[in-house]
Amino acid sequence: MTDILQKPPRRYAIGAAVFEPPNLAPGLYIVGTPIGNLGDITIRALEALAAADVILCEDTRNTGKLLERFAIRAKLEPYHEHNAAKVRPGILARLSEGARFALVSDAGMPLVNDPGYRLVAEAVAARIAVTCCPGPVAAIAGLALAGLPTDRFGFFGFVPQKQGERQKLWAELSSLRSTLIFYESPHRIIETLQSIAETFPGRLVAVARELTKLHEEILRGTASEVAATLAARPAVKGEITLLIGPPAEGEGKASAEDLEAAIAEVSASLPASKAAAEIAKRFGLPKKDIYARILAAKAEADGE
Ligand code: SAM
Repeated sequence: MTDILQKPPRRYAIGAAVFEPPNLAPGLYIVGTPIGNLGDITIRALEALAAADVILCEDTRNTGKLLERFAIRAKLEPYHEHNAAKVRPGILARLSEGARFALVSDAGMPLVNDPGYRLVAEAVAARIAVTCCPGPVAAIAGLALAGLPTDRFGFFGFVPQKQGERQKLWAELSSLRSTLIFYESPHRIIETLQSIAETFPGRLVAVARELTKLHEEILRGTASEVAATLAARPAVKGEITLLIGPPAEGEGKASAEDLEAAIAEVSASLPASKAAAEIAKRFGLPKKDIYARILAAKAEADGE
């Protein structure tokens, strides 16, 4: 390995085999990297990383370890949420002059809950060539293993930390007949599952933990079942992708039948705004819609 490192930089190695990458055309290369298992890197990714003039990365130490594994010597420059706005004009200027830049993130695909969107948008606007060397995405690996429907799915990034925002999101998403995918911290997963159990009691969920790594684990069941499994452990560790299955056939219909009764019952004892919040939470529906229905029901009862 030392021998390889002393050679000119445009090389990469897989074990003892050393390869020379083909020439890279000028432009911006969006390069996917592994989400845990370094064996998941692609040959095109290695070629782009070995041949780029500069690799833009979130954390130079982190990307340095990946490059070391494949004996790639490269110029690394940080590109992360705190410096992106400042360094982007300079990067675009060098790209316009014909440089080859690769963009990576700490793990998985750049731009997926990671920096890069504005760089791509501005490069496109400046007619700079942009291409992609696709790689693993935790959301998609989780979807593949969840055992939930895959014909329609949506990705929503990290679950909001504040209870009110989380509840608002559940209400917004409740009527989607799709599998819903989120990223979540191991410290908040039990609380999040408990809030899903309250809003979507019948739905199946999957918690995909440590995908592609030694301790990969997928927990499947209702949110309350999976929450109970995790709560019984001394600690929940590792990286987590959370998936919520679509509503079962009839979930919406049952709610529609019960909704009028709930509006009559709850709004009899609470002011309209509080009643709307309570019913929205119970049925996973937008509060403003329920509020409008409560007001309409009151107006009808008052003979307006
Ligand atoms: N760009 C990445 C991708 O393509 O998946 C995601 C970056 S996001 C900042 C990091 C989050 O992704 C983690 O906090 C975790 O929720 C999820 N994640 C990343 N690697 C994972 C893994 N190996 N298993 C499960 N979830 C993972």
